[in-house]
Amino acid sequence: MTDTSPLTLDHIRAAAETLLGIADATPLVPSPYLGSRFGHPFWLKLENMQPIGAFKLRGALNAVANLPVGTRGVTCCSTGNHGRGVAYAAAEKGIRAVVCMSELVPQAKVDGIRALGAEVRIVGRSQDDAFAESRRLVEQEGLAEISPFDDPFVIAGQGTIGLEILESRAEIETLLVPLSGGGLAAGVALAAKALKPSVRVIGISMDRGAAMYESLRAGHPVEVEEYASLADSLGGGIGIDNRLSYAMCRDLLDDVVLVTEEQIYRAMQTLYYEDRIVAEGGCVVGIAALQAGKLELTGPTATIITGRNLDMSVFTRIVTGQDVVLGDTTIKGMPYGA
Ligand SMILES: *Cc1c(COP(=O)(O)O)cnc(C)c1O
Repeated sequence: MTDTSPLTLDHIRAAAETLLGIADATPLVPSPYLGSRFGHPFWLKLENMQPIGAFKLRGALNAVANLPVGTRGVTCCSTGNHGRGVAYAAAEKGIRAVVCMSELVPQAKVDGIRALGAEVRIVGRSQDDAFAESRRLVEQEGLAEISPFDDPFVIAGQGTIGLEILESRAEIETLLVPLSGGGLAAGVALAAKALKPSVRVIGISMDRGAAMYESLRAGHPVEVEEYASLADSLGGGIGIDNRLSYAMCRDLLDDVVLVTEEQIYRAMQTLYYEDRIVAEGGCVVGIAALQAGKLELTGPTATIITGRNLDMSVFTRIVTGQDVVLGDTTIKGMPYGA
């Protein structure tokens, strides 16, 4: 392994054992349409089928399973899917979970987390405020904090996706991985390259507020401004004091590509009409990059459909080709195929 990463394939194999029977192996299905369109067999790893509707359950379960004995409860800050994963994992283990979120988090995501039995703290108007509250809970109430991406057990848990893909389809040459804080990409790249060193792993983010992309360019973690995006689960920073995911992405990713909101909008339509899959904007960024001609494939390829926890009224507007208002910008409606 690289000297910046204390993680090895063994940690990912151990995580796979821990997840057995709870975050079951998800289907890896072919997309005949995308395969013929891009000229190489194309596979979709359906993490939208996980019990919480997103892959984040893997990392959360592995982190909770590895807490020190006697831990009274866990806390995290989240914009949605990580909070859901932590709430589910804590309920499985019968311990307390407190999820800290800002006022900006949509009510549907808040309700989903409460429904899993977690306490929800709504604090301030940014991820930073939510993070400060979860830090306070660590110090004053002795809860253990679980980072959404910068935690070795979380990264190992997400890495089990890379294991599953390469173990069932050894011929895959390229993995397209949605990229935000980089826990997913780091774990998947570590696992995939351990099994098959020649595999290419490419991270894809939206072009506004891409924290990992900007940090890799700067050569160290940087802060970015947050923008509303169809790929909302790819928003947020990587942490100025990032310990693991930044260095792992720097050392393990072959490339990072950015896509626009219009390209994400079109790719959501493609995945829906051609493969009949309802998925968050954050999942289709790899397909968006291919459709936009920003990536060349060399052989069999897989992408990870990371989650399905989206606002259905926005999704309905997209698949019917209507305008979508995002913060201060409007994405002009486009019928599918136009
Ligand atoms: C968290 C998340 C990602 C990105 O994962 P990182 O580990 O933060 O890079 C991608 N898609 C969905 C749906 C997510 O919830």
